[in-house]
Formats: sequence, structure tokens, C-alpha cells
Amino acid sequence: MVGKTKKRIIWLIWLLGFPLGLWFTYHLYPPQFTGKGIDILVYLLLTAFVAATPMVINGSPIFLIQWVSWAAFLTFGLFVELMMAQLALIILFIRIKLPRNDYFRLPLNSLMFFLVSLLSGIFYYTFGGKTGLSLIDVKQTFWLVVTYPVLNYFLNQLIIIFLNFAIYNNTKNIFGKDFIWETVTTLITFPIGFVLYILYTEVGLVSLLFVGVPFASLSIILNLYYSSDKINGYLQTATDIGHQLAEKLIVNEVIDLFIEKITEMLTVDYAYILDIVDDKELQLLRCIEKGEEKSTDIRPLKKNEGISGLVWDKGEAMLFHSKKEWKHIVKGYMPDTIESVICVPIVRNNKAVGVLLLASTQKRAYEKSQLMIVDILCSHFAIAIENARYYEETKEKSERCALTKLFNYRYFENLLSNEFKRLQTFQREKLSLIILDIDHFKSVNDTYGHQSGNEILSQLADQLADLIGDRGTVARYGGEEFVILLPNVAKEEALQTAEVIRQTIADHPFILTQQMEWEGIPLQVNITASIGVATAPMDAEDSLGLIRHADRALYVGAKRAGRNRVAEYVK
Ligand code: GH3
Ligand code: MG
Ligand code: MG
Repeated sequence: MVGKTKKRIIWLIWLLGFPLGLWFTYHLYPPQFTGKGIDILVYLLLTAFVAATPMVINGSPIFLIQWVSWAAFLTFGLFVELMMAQLALIILFIRIKLPRNDYFRLPLNSLMFFLVSLLSGIFYYTFGGKTGLSLIDVKQTFWLVVTYPVLNYFLNQLIIIFLNFAIYNNTKNIFGKDFIWETVTTLITFPIGFVLYILYTEVGLVSLLFVGVPFASLSIILNLYYSSDKINGYLQTATDIGHQLAEKLIVNEVIDLFIEKITEMLTVDYAYILDIVDDKELQLLRCIEKGEEKSTDIRPLKKNEGISGLVWDKGEAMLFHSKKEWKHIVKGYMPDTIESVICVPIVRNNKAVGVLLLASTQKRAYEKSQLMIVDILCSHFAIAIENARYYEETKEKSERCALTKLFNYRYFENLLSNEFKRLQTFQREKLSLIILDIDHFKSVNDTYGHQSGNEILSQLADQLADLIGDRGTVARYGGEEFVILLPNVAKEEALQTAEVIRQTIADHPFILTQQMEWEGIPLQVNITASIGVATAPMDAEDSLGLIRHADRALYVGAKRAGRNRVAEYVK
């Protein structure tokens, strides 16, 4: 951003310097246009045409005006060239609809053009160069004639570098893509200027037509080349992002990476990912505004409602260049500063599963080609999300017991050995293990049936999970056996917890909904459990030892001693 003071200074310098400079130039190098009024007018038209058809490289316009200026300079002298460059500038700014905030660029660029023209002109004249000359003179001072545009170009670049630094505090890569494009296109078009000048001296005004047509064609071809080059770049990036997305296995990580990459690629001030829920409504899944994650607590949209609803309904991407274009569509939430919007359906298996909406506070921030790329990225995104969801589900399944939804033995063993590693590296002080076995469960099965036994197991699992909460991990160890791992819990506390569990089980009958006793009253079953407790490092040196010893406490101390009791391991 350029501050107000800087802008004022720029205007002031222009107001003082520009008229003075013009006057100075006029007197020092009087223009040579007597009797050439019509020709100058036609030249001005050509200038206007060229200025109005700039190439846009990386979002900044490059206009290939130098060749016309050069021919104008050789034909009419410095003063006319100066004025033409100023005209070109004004036309360019009208053409690209310079935002109000950037009006200061007019005096800034005006001064810059003026300075470049003046310096290269003075150089040319000082070394004996002449303007308004005949072809014979050109032959004599050929190298000087050729040096002029080269000097002009490099002075221009130097000033751009300086201004970038002084005005925008911008030290990013100066010799980037824009620079290369500008240099190459200028080099290609310079000879056209020379041809124009020679032809003009030979055949007059009609030469502008001869040269204008090839130039226009060249400019179109360069534009096409640039856009295909740009799309290639985008496609390359999209493929890279696709690979990176495919590597992520966690849904949230996929979403984060997707937002991060798309924000790097395009100018994105606002990003919203909406999820289509039950084919009924669009729910906000992720909301990023100016780089910050915001609450997604916003009223869901119906199909056909707002921009996203419309995109969902049509199944087609939409692009808006300014607020005027979307204002009448929007329903519900939409920040007021937004101008450009790109909105794309997220499609999987030919079915929309979500909508992505990107927005910028700038007008015309997005192009059609970018819409296509975002579309491609969204299909990568949809696949990556599905894979990650599938992975998360499979992982969940492989770690849990289907009946009780508790962690299973495999998960528990892994967890136990990890916890033991923490114990050994002193990240944990203690590790307590509670092991629980239902008493006479076989007869429960025999009396009420296997199905009722299952129901009890499942209810008991919920009870244990509630009792332990986030103090530890409950897992189903086997048939009617459960284990509870309590990191950083001392034996005393573990024993107390075990006692609470034992009492809770013994005091509250389990209600079987599947089996009705009679007349619709559910069956109640009383059970008890025996519990063993061991704590590392005092009771065991490795994970297997801890299990074995807790199990031993269970069988020797609790079961054999009469069941429905808690026992600790004793050596
Ligand atoms: P004890 O007090 O000695 O532990 O007696 P118990 O009957 O509980 O012990 P035992 O090891 O002899 O029997 C365990 C029973 O648990 C056997 C089996 O029918 C039952 N069981 C194991 N897994 C399940 C299950 O998933 N569902 C049901 N319904 N029963 C199970
Ligand atoms: Mg048992
Ligand atoms: Mg058992």
C-alpha cells in the first residue's frame, strides 16, 4: 500500500516538474512538424490503438508502445515523442480502468516516461543524432539510431526498479517473469518501429497500415502464446497440488492444504467451502477471511439460494468480476468488501458434494482460465477428501470393537507399548492398568441368551467410558474382559477408581430392552465384576509384565477370593 503523504508528494512533483520539463524540451529541441499535422494525427491514432491493446502479464499491463515512439521520435523529434508517450499512458489507464486508489500512478508514470524520453533524447542529440532526417542520415548515424531505443528501454527498466523500491518498498525478484516478457516483446517489436520509420519516409502515411497489420497480428500471437504459457503453468501447479492432496490421509489436513495452496495460487481474500448435506442444504464447512479461520455458524443455504446454491443447482462454475454482477443473486452472508467471485461445484462421481467459493476485494481478480484450473483442483480435492474419509473410517474400524465401539485389543497393545516408552523416557511418571472380568458371564448367557449378553457388554462399555472420561483409555480386551489404562495415575487412585467401577456395576442392574419379561416390562439383570490393578514402574518393567500382573491380581486376588472385588498386584 502507498500512503497518502507519498501520493501527495508524487502529485506535487508532477505539478511542478512536468510543465517545466515540457517547456524546457520545447525550447531546447523544437519539434519538427511543420506541414505534417495530418501525419502526426495519424501517428497519434496508431499510438492510441497500440496503447489500448496491452498484454496483461502476471496481472500487470505491458504495452508495446516503444516501437511507435521510436518511429515518432525519428520523424518528429523529441517533443512529439514525449507527448505521444503521455497520450499512450492516459489511454492505457483508461483501458485498464485504473482504480481510484491508484490514481497517483498517472503522475508517477507520466514523470517516469518523461524522464526516460528526455534522458535518451538528450543522449541522442548530444552525440550528434538528428531527427526528422532523411534515410541518408540514418545510414550515417545508424548505430546511434539503434542505441536510442535500447537506452530508452534500459532507462525505463532502471526507473521501474527504483520506483518499486522507493514507492512500494518492494524488493521481490526484479528479473521475474514480467521482466523477461517485457524485454522479449520489446526486442521483437523494436524492428517494427524501424521498418515503420523507413517505410514512412519512403511512402508516407500508408506505411502505417503496412506496419500496423503485422503488428496487430504479432500482438495477438504473443497474447495467445502468453495465455497458453500461463495455463501450462497453472496446470503444472494444479497437478503438483493434486499429488500433495492425494498424500494426505486426514480429512482436515486435506482441507487445510487445499485452502493454503489455492490461496497461494490466486488472489484470495475470502475462501468458503460448503458441504452439501443430505442433498438438502449447503452447510458452511470452512470459512477463511483474510487468512484467518472464522466461525462456520452461518445459516445453511437451500438449493438455488445465493451464489453457492445456484452453482450447486446448475452444477456449473460461475465467475463474477465485480459486485454489480452478483449483488442481485446473493442471499444470506456475504462480506460487503467483496468484488470478484469464483464459485465452483465440488463434484465426485458426477454428483455435486460441495461448493467452493473464492472471493477478492479487487475487481476483475479472476480470469476464465483460472476458473478451469480451480475446477480441476476441486476434482482433485473431492477425490482426496473421499480417500481421507475412507482411510479415517477404515482406521477407526480396525481400531475399534464393533459391538461396544471401544478400542480393541490391537489398539490397546499398541497404546500400552507407546505409553511404556514414555515411561522409560520419563515423559510419564506412572502408568496404572485396571483389568476387569465379568463374573459368571457364561451363566448370564445361558440364562438370558447370547443376545442379552451382548447388550450387557455394550451397556457396560458405555458405563466404563463415562466413568473414565479423559483420564485414560478403555478398551475391550477379550470376551467379557475390559482394560483401562491410566497414564500418570498412582496405584492408590487407580484402586479407588476400580472400586467405584465395581460398585457402580454391582449396584445398578442392567436393563435388557430386547427381552421383555412379561407385559412389556423390560428385564433387569444384576451382574458383578472382578477387577485387578497393577502400576508401572513398581509392579512391572515392561508392557507384557504389567498386563500379566494385573491379570494375576484379578484371578488370584479377586476371582479366587470370592469375586465382586478389587485386588492389587502384590509380589
Ligand atoms: P468367571 O467369573 O470365572 O469369569 O466366569 P465366566 O463365566 O465369566 O468365565 P468364562 O471365561 O468361563 O466365560 C466367559 C463367557 O463369556 C464365555 C462366553 O460365552 C461369554 N462371552 C465371551 N464373549 C462374549 C460376547 O461377545 N458376547 C456374549 N454374549 N458372551 C460372550
Ligand atoms: Mg468372566
Ligand atoms: Mg473371562
